[in-house]
Formats: sequence, structure tokens, C-alpha cells
Amino acid sequence: MHKVLQLTPEDNVAVVIKSDKLALVGQKVALEQISINKPIIKYGCVIGFAKRAIDKDEVVDHRNIVDPEEIGVVPIENEKRFCLLSEERRHFFGYKNSDGSVGTRNYLCIMSSVQCVSGILEYVVDRINKHDLHKYKNVDGIIAINHAYGCGVAIDAVGSEIPKRTISNLLANPNFGNRALIVGLGCEKLKHEIIINELRKATGREMEVKSIYLQDITFEGFYSATETLTSLIHKELDALNNRKREKVSISNLLVGMQCGGSDAFSGITANPLLGHLSDILIAAGGSTIFSENTECMDAEVYLKERCLSSDISAQLSVEFDWYRDYLSRSAVDRTANTTPGNKSGGLSTIAEKALGSVAKSGSAQIAGVIKPGERCINRGLNYLSGPASDFICGTLQLAAGSNFHIFTTGRGTPYSIDGFPVLKVSSNSKLKHKWFDLIDFDAGSLLDSGDFHNEALKLLDLIIKIASGDKTCAEKLGIKNDIVLFNPAPVT
Ligand code: CA
Repeated sequence: MHKVLQLTPEDNVAVVIKSDKLALVGQKVALEQISINKPIIKYGCVIGFAKRAIDKDEVVDHRNIVDPEEIGVVPIENEKRFCLLSEERRHFFGYKNSDGSVGTRNYLCIMSSVQCVSGILEYVVDRINKHDLHKYKNVDGIIAINHAYGCGVAIDAVGSEIPKRTISNLLANPNFGNRALIVGLGCEKLKHEIIINELRKATGREMEVKSIYLQDITFEGFYSATETLTSLIHKELDALNNRKREKVSISNLLVGMQCGGSDAFSGITANPLLGHLSDILIAAGGSTIFSENTECMDAEVYLKERCLSSDISAQLSVEFDWYRDYLSRSAVDRTANTTPGNKSGGLSTIAEKALGSVAKSGSAQIAGVIKPGERCINRGLNYLSGPASDFICGTLQLAAGSNFHIFTTGRGTPYSIDGFPVLKVSSNSKLKHKWFDLIDFDAGSLLDSGDFHNEALKLLDLIIKIASGDKTCAEKLGIKNDIVLFNPAPVT
């Protein structure tokens, strides 16, 4: 005996979620008789065609499906997900910024313009964190962004615009209060004017950005230099500490979504759950971002049909073409996609695998395409072009202006990056039990209930609490990963 989960009402296959035969879990079974050449529908999309007649309840896998790779994925009109949210689900308490954006956190952002300063900067920030930060009750912390860009790089090379605009746009994230401090050495290639000009160009206004080069400070020795930096930082903390949380609409949330350490359940529980959540948030005026070119470009035809306009659809193709070219420059071999592991886990075609990741995007139309390092300027559902690497994807979403991040995982990762709260969702309950203090939300219960709408509302309740100041698991534990820049340009 087995139990199955049908992901959308249009599907003619369902996923086995419980079975006395373990190898069947994650596989698909036909919900009706499917004639030869007829479409196999999962996620409301055609993931392949029947190679021969398939009986009701028969297992549907790579042996009886023809891959639709050359035909593309054909979307089937989804029933629009709509719900009227109660009053308490329409608001959170955030920090209003002068540019009209809202932060879910109140951080001081210190950007380094070259790695040479990171030692001294970390020393100063560490001391302030230990001895003084508790005096600033309304400040959530100091984010000192150290990275390997700034010098020893081809600063004007093709591709250099990506790390440069990422650095600038990180400063404009709503969680940094529209102000920042840039710390440099003085002889680096990435002059602070470059960062500030880029920021002005992207935001169309002046931000409160203070700039300091260590080589320009008149000081005697290391400790004197740390004093100068320390007093600058205290002034910034004083300004940020005057801010208070206020009641704002959830339409001010820009939620970045991604997955990592996925398993066979990620595409049938956690990712579709995010899709439902995304639809609910967008219906309430909010915005979401999904990313990860490596997986999404295999669903290009499907995604293009979901774009709001032919312009946006063309932008999506430009990004995927650019990324294919980027991969082919290094002769990246993608022919083994899907892998034998994918197949034994129940993923029969590339389209099906891609749709498991794309499921995070729900059923809304794509309202904007964001190039890597750019800011998000469109409301609703956005696609951010960039690698699937957890840290790079998270950093690009932060630079896009995302003030909240949701991360789905099946095998488990303690991932979290500073700058926005990272809410982690497990695809299965076993992981949540094992990592009870690292995973914020368990989507594994969907395997029993199958009630995506109700679980999405529960997830929304948790998002509202965390956006209003409650800590994520990673924040409680104080663990985080580094911000990582995407630099496709040469290093010199
Ligand atoms: Ca990822």
C-alpha cells in the first residue's frame, strides 16, 4: 500500500510519499490511464510524454516518459490562488526608511573597499560588539562586509560591473537604514567614488554614506587608527539607535527565496509551499524574488510564457543565454543532467527537475528580471539571474534589496547570511527533528496533510513575527556565512 500527493488539480500523476516499498517513495504513479504520446502532467505542467500506454496506478519514470527537452515545458493555466488575509496577517513592525522602503532589521553596514582593511576592521567591530553594542538597544548589529574584491582585479573588465554594482547596491538594502560607512586603504582600485556614483545611479538619490581611507588618517600606530574608526562607528550607531519599529503593511516585504542541500522531497513539499506563500504575499501587495539560473534555465520555455510582457520574456532569454555562455567558457558539462541519483529519487526528466526548483515561484506572472548585482525595481514576482550557489545567490538577493530570505533544504545546511533574517524550511520532518534548533519551519507535515494553503498561512505568521524582530534559529545561535560576491571578471 502507498500514499500519494497530487501537487495541482491538473496533474495526471501523483508522487508516492509513503510506501511499504521504500524505493517507490518520491516516484510518480499515474492517476488515470495515459495513452501513448499523451502529456505527463506534474506541477500543472507537461514534464514529458508517454512513450507507451501507461495504466492507472502504474509507476511513471524515465523508462516510460519521453523527455520534453526539445519541445519545452507547456504551462497549463493554474487556478488563481487568492485569499483574503485577516488584519493581523496584513502588517508587521519594521523600520521605515527615508526612501520609502522598510527594514526588517536595523543594522549598521560597514563596507570594505579592499580586503587589506579587513583585519583592522574586524578588530574594531569585534571590540564594539563585545563592549558597547548592548548600549544601542534599537540596533540589531553591525554588518562588516569583507570581500576579496577591490584590488588585484581587472576593475574595468567585461563582467566587472557585476561585483561593482553588487557592492554599491548592498549599501542600499532597506535593513541598513539608508546609511553606510565605507572603509578603504587608499591605494586600491575600487575608489569610494566608484561605489558612491554607482549607488547614486541605481537609486537616483544621495544616501548618507561616510567614507574613510586608513592611509589618509593622521595617526600614530595601530591603536590610534582603531580609535578613529571606533568613534566614527559610534556616531553611526547613535543615529541608527534613534529609530523605532512601526506598524507597516506586508506589501513592504521583498522576500528572496532559494534552495540548497535539496532532497527528493524539496520539489514536492518545501518549494511548492514557498510558491503558495509567494502567491499569497503578491496578492497582498508584497514582492518576492526567485533565482538560481543553473536549474531555472531548463524551464526557460515555461518561465517565458509566465512573463508579464514580451520585453520581460526577452530579458529572461538574454540572462539565460549569457549564463549558458558563461558556463561554456569553462566547458562545463551539463549532459549528465538528470543524474542517476535524480532518477532513483523520482526525477525522470530535466523539465521535472527544473520545475521542482521553479515551484518556489508559485503561479504569479513574472513582473521583472533582475541582472546579477542590480536592484529590484518591480513589485510582484521577480526573477534574479545568477548562480545557484547558496552564498552568491543570497548575496545577490540582499543587493537586490530583499529584506527577508527564505531557504528550503532537505538534506540540511546551517546556512544563514547576515543582513537579512534567513528563515530555513525543511522538506521533511526527519530533518526538523534532527536539527530542531537550526530549522525554523517544517514543510514535511505536508506529506500528511497535503494542505498547502493552510501551511503557507502558518509560514506567513512566522515570517510576520520574524520580520517584526523575533530571531531566526541562526540568529539565536549567532551563526552566519560570509557574503560572497559574484565576479565573472578576471583577477590580476
Ligand atoms: Ca542555492
